[in-house]
Amino acid sequence: MREDVNEKCAVVGIYGHKEASRLAYFSLHALQHRGQEAAGISSSDGKKLHTIKKRGLVMRVFDEAKLKTLSGNNAVGHTRYSTAGDDSILDAQPVFARYDLGEMAIVHNGNFTNADEVRNALISKGAIFQTYMDTENLIHLIAKSEKKNLLERIIDAVERIEGAFSLVFLSRTKMFAMRDRHGFRPLSLGKLPNSGYLVASETCAFDLVGAEFIRDVEPGELLVFENNKEPKSIKVFEPTPKHCIFEYVYFARPDSKVFGQSVYQTRKNMGKELAHIKPVEADIVIPVPDGGVPSAIGYAQESGIPYEMGIMRNHYIGRTFIEPTQEMRDLKVKMKLSPMTDIIKGKRVIVVDDSIVRGTTSKRIVKMLKEAGASEVHMRVSSPPTTDPCYYGVDTPDKDKLIAANMTEDEICEFIEADSLAYLDEATLLRSVNAKEENYCTACFTGKYII
Ligand code: AMP
Repeated sequence: MREDVNEKCAVVGIYGHKEASRLAYFSLHALQHRGQEAAGISSSDGKKLHTIKKRGLVMRVFDEAKLKTLSGNNAVGHTRYSTAGDDSILDAQPVFARYDLGEMAIVHNGNFTNADEVRNALISKGAIFQTYMDTENLIHLIAKSEKKNLLERIIDAVERIEGAFSLVFLSRTKMFAMRDRHGFRPLSLGKLPNSGYLVASETCAFDLVGAEFIRDVEPGELLVFENNKEPKSIKVFEPTPKHCIFEYVYFARPDSKVFGQSVYQTRKNMGKELAHIKPVEADIVIPVPDGGVPSAIGYAQESGIPYEMGIMRNHYIGRTFIEPTQEMRDLKVKMKLSPMTDIIKGKRVIVVDDSIVRGTTSKRIVKMLKEAGASEVHMRVSSPPTTDPCYYGVDTPDKDKLIAANMTEDEICEFIEADSLAYLDEATLLRSVNAKEENYCTACFTGKYII
């Protein structure tokens, strides 16, 4: 059974606005960094759901004519992160279904940890699955539930799943938003300028459509949008927050507020702390764009070493993780990042990145900087060594491919051929994020899994 599907993605829901699908489209634009493989929107016009989903970037999937067909005042949308070798159209979201209560569409960010168990139980009772997505489990659980209405069926269904989920459900007249009891993945609620509400994975979507941030959907909370009223809140699970620290490290956009804090500010703090605990003499501080930018700014400010743009990023190429084979990934790094020779030549360079996963990027960058004439290259990483895979929605490779799971820091330094290498430790990371250890999931750095 495939487990690496339905990984980190973006979800959005628009309720009670006459341009619902258009607002979902703009929101998905703002959330494009959370997934570039496929995009989709379902809208509801009160009688029927309309769905368009396709492989590709949001801009490519939709045009004016398509948006016009997505009529109605409510809509949900999704961007999907890449996975290797799937039938991408089938595995794109929203997941749509007709069932005894009508029609529904679901968008999901996260991973169900008991997906195989639930799926096998459903299959043994005759269910037929069309995709590898764990989200499809939910459709079956809702359709088969013996409860009378959709609200009760959603509660019945989510009680049977475990893991990380930020979900938005659309029916012909209602919308529901739900976050798992740990609140692993973000989900925020906002008010649209004239009428209606939106929920989205990150608040950068709110800014784009002019929405006002109300609050985060609470861990374990279900919001019900109906009759054009304020959403009704139902506490389905007792909240036990375990927010994903990696949202701060890498995943979320710096202009978002996630888990109540500015992503940019937390990243800058990480850089400051890093400069404080892992100083080194050098001439310039440069970021690995874009992920390393805020922490490099923090490092430069704290150390007093000038900040420079030493690496140019080509923005017309997707994230390097997107291609499944190692060979393609190497090629993509080269296409994506090029050195600014005039800035680097003859300098002792501190290069700051947010994380080292496989080590491919860092190795390539150190080589590139040395070839451009850097006299020394000191690698600084604004998070701890990534030693363990994520089962809650972040696409990290298996442990055997995680360089820090297989090498010591000295060995990694030697492998990437840097003059020095230093990471942030877990306690300092938590301090930079201003986070209580018990409220965060740090499994990718510690192997301490909650579920
Ligand atoms: P690697 O070459 O595998 O060490 O990749 C490290 C680079 O990938 C860093 O520059 C990170 O910004 C970025 N990165 C870290 N985690 C992820 C992820 N889950 N998906 C895509 N890129 C990532």
